[in-house]
Amino acid sequence: VFNFSAGPAMLPLPVLEKVQEELLDYKGSGMSVMEMSHRSGLFTDIITSAEDTLREIMNIPDNYKVLFVQGGASQQFAAVPLNIMKNKKADFVNTGSWSKKAMKEAKKYIEVNEIASSEDKNFTYIPEIDASKLDPQADYVHITTNNTIEGTVFKEIPDTGNVPLVADMSSNILSEEIDVSKFGIIYAGAQKNIGPAGLTIVIIREDLIGRAADICPTMLDYKTHSESGSLYNTPPTFGVYIAKLVFDWIKEQGGVKAVQQQNEKKAALLYDYITMSDFYHSPIQEDSRSLMNVPFTIPNRDLDAKFIEEAKKNGLETLKGHRSVGGMRASIYNAMPLEGVEKLVQFMKQFKEENK
Ligand code: PLP
Repeated sequence: VFNFSAGPAMLPLPVLEKVQEELLDYKGSGMSVMEMSHRSGLFTDIITSAEDTLREIMNIPDNYKVLFVQGGASQQFAAVPLNIMKNKKADFVNTGSWSKKAMKEAKKYIEVNEIASSEDKNFTYIPEIDASKLDPQADYVHITTNNTIEGTVFKEIPDTGNVPLVADMSSNILSEEIDVSKFGIIYAGAQKNIGPAGLTIVIIREDLIGRAADICPTMLDYKTHSESGSLYNTPPTFGVYIAKLVFDWIKEQGGVKAVQQQNEKKAALLYDYITMSDFYHSPIQEDSRSLMNVPFTIPNRDLDAKFIEEAKKNGLETLKGHRSVGGMRASIYNAMPLEGVEKLVQFMKQFKEENK
């Protein structure tokens, strides 16, 4: 089936086949990666290779550390302020549910200033940031680069000057080329474009490590993971192994640039059809549309359940929109083949003919 879930999401088929092939006996060890010590030579090779390949495909500068941690992106909502609070205030751009959650959590530790928001139009666009609203004394500026629920993406990364830019990149990391040097911290839960849930990636500029507040738990302190090569305690070993295979797969596709081209093609196919059809509707402003999450509606909301049910019968899974938005949402992450989107569009045409 083609799975349009917002996460956990589809993994590339060759990756799953490789996992299956190596499941019981990893490289002649007679053990599964799941059963191996995280301090063994074989696992050291896996985590080192995962980091090296990620650095290569994202072009991560040498003055950044890559951390493999747990707790999901949600844990980072607290970890970020606890690690880099100095003046105890930060600027946030509010682009939807996940930004709000990040703000709510940060508020427990620091002053949160909302410097831009698209809430006036139900988060259907990415707001402009008025440079005069940026506080030069803020500890950081926080954005959610891709809004999984609402279906919007920052097409341009804001310039925050000397104030570090922190980005929740959970739903678009590795989907398009980005310039890592524009960010102080990038974090992402793995379960969309990287691997299974349980692994979280943090990419952090070195000068932001080692300034954690006294009350910061050891496990949330970036220094703990940076000094130990993400092996302070037991990392999510199987997740790191699958992430390594996904990074290898991206490299084999021709890197992030090639994956981005494929993503643009997939999204264009879907948006173009939605735009030209007089049946489906995209609530998202054209210049803010996500390549990863495509919400759409049918004017007659009574048809939503029928659409979702019939799509499922056609092997098109998990197209229900988030409960806060309604309608449908097709999440088309890196692992979704073009064929899956073609099949969805074909189904949408057929459904329209039968129900218009
Ligand atoms: N941020 C964004 C943009 C997300 O899409 C999600 C999850 O779907 C989260 C944060 C929360 O991630 P986690 O479940 O890993 O805590």
